[in-house]
Amino acid sequence: MRLCRFNRDRIGVVEGEAVYDITALFDVQPAWPLPHGDWIVRQMPEVLPKIPGYVSEQKPFLLSGIRLESPVANPGKIIGAPINYRAHIDEANADKAINHGKTFTSLDQYGLFIKANSALIGPSEEVQLSFPDRRNDHEVELAVVIGKEARFVKYDQALDYVFGYCIGLDMTIRGPEFPGFRKSLDTFAVLGPWIVTKDEIADPNKLGLSIKVNGEFRQNSNTSYLIFDVQRLIEYASRFYTLYPGDVIMTGTPEGVSQVNPGDVMEAEIEGIGRMQIAIARDWGTPRL
Ligand code: MN
Repeated sequence: MRLCRFNRDRIGVVEGEAVYDITALFDVQPAWPLPHGDWIVRQMPEVLPKIPGYVSEQKPFLLSGIRLESPVANPGKIIGAPINYRAHIDEANADKAINHGKTFTSLDQYGLFIKANSALIGPSEEVQLSFPDRRNDHEVELAVVIGKEARFVKYDQALDYVFGYCIGLDMTIRGPEFPGFRKSLDTFAVLGPWIVTKDEIADPNKLGLSIKVNGEFRQNSNTSYLIFDVQRLIEYASRFYTLYPGDVIMTGTPEGVSQVNPGDVMEAEIEGIGRMQIAIARDWGTPRL
């Protein structure tokens, strides 16, 4: 199943070119205090079985006529894996504009980082470069959406805690600052176009992923090159943090990271998930409403 958020917080099911509004199946008035994680993803286990019967009586929207938002509205945290493809580690160590004097070794040594969830946008919005005079890079990544609370998870059980997958863009300013700072600017975490539930992805560690900028391939690889695969990332992350429904793990980027500039258009694709296009805004510094 493909689940999206669209047209200002409607929850949808995507079937081919049709999008069915299933918002009415969710309790959208949570009690205070909100539980950790995303309120909608938390309700998915009860809602999923009701969807087929419900949509059979609904009139669909057309996919081409809606605005897609981040499929997770309020992830409790967005976890990033900084150096998780060998060829990206090599390119980073070879390029001073990427490494800023650091030598990258392994994820074990560098650990994970957190992207602020205020950075989150979906494909209908634009990435804004608040510092267009600095080097701003795209990083296309498989994003894992957690489905249930997870702590000290073992490798073999790790996929039991996954709700689904989407495309993630871990937008990044290169520089000497800590990653959580450079990767957390508003609009620097893109998720979309929808969540594909895990039953549709036979093996998340065997998916082609790519990104084009202005029609030209920049990154084109496969999750089979992940150093920490999806299960190991969940095992590793859940030793440091409790994972909650709707938390997102961006699994790391392959080689080919490069600069984007105002007016560029990125097109990211992951096998089995889909494709999304997202623009780099021509201006910046305008408040996002
Ligand atoms: Mn990244």
